[in-house]
Amino acid sequence: MGTDKAALLDELAADVRDLVDSPLYAYRREEGYLPVVGDGDPDARVMFIGEAPGAEEARKGRPFVGAAGRILDDLLAPIGLERGEVYITNVVKDRPPNNRDPLAPEIKLYGPFLVRQIEIVQPRVIATLGRFALAFVLTHFGSQVRPRITDLHGKPVDLEAPYGPVSVVPLYHPASAFYADGRLEVMAEDFQVLKRYL
Ligand code: URA
Repeated sequence: MGTDKAALLDELAADVRDLVDSPLYAYRREEGYLPVVGDGDPDARVMFIGEAPGAEEARKGRPFVGAAGRILDDLLAPIGLERGEVYITNVVKDRPPNNRDPLAPEIKLYGPFLVRQIEIVQPRVIATLGRFALAFVLTHFGSQVRPRITDLHGKPVDLEAPYGPVSVVPLYHPASAFYADGRLEVMAEDFQVLKRYL
């Protein structure tokens, strides 16, 4: 099972590498960046979805390996989860310049790759990191819930994926801990919710 999924994820990674029509492709090449497709266990029960890679991620071609990634690691440890047991990806697979928010055409272009990843990995739990991932996932699954992260963080939304039930757990983006007072404590509490699915 895992091998088939790994092969499909490899194919997907090659497709993302070849996205020469992406508005972010020229920037990728100029900076010598790599696309950041995803990382972790292709059979993971829990999938984390962030927004878009930062500079460190684009240099290494791996999600959440910079400052925000260190926060993510610190939040995973107390609930007994290691990176290798989960699957981590982003909505947008190339780094937007100057860390700006992803633009609608970028989300439209990269979104189908995320959908493919969800369909390959078939996670039972999708933990969204930040508002872009939350909005994308809720819209994709046709949820009527209004995607306001300030109301929804830490409150799972149970939805139906083509492969079965999936619980979406809305979480704040780890990078928000750098500028929002008390955010780390709130996130640590929200991450506890994930324990009920492990
Ligand atoms: N922020 C994200 O949303 N994704 C990453 O991979 C790194 C930082």
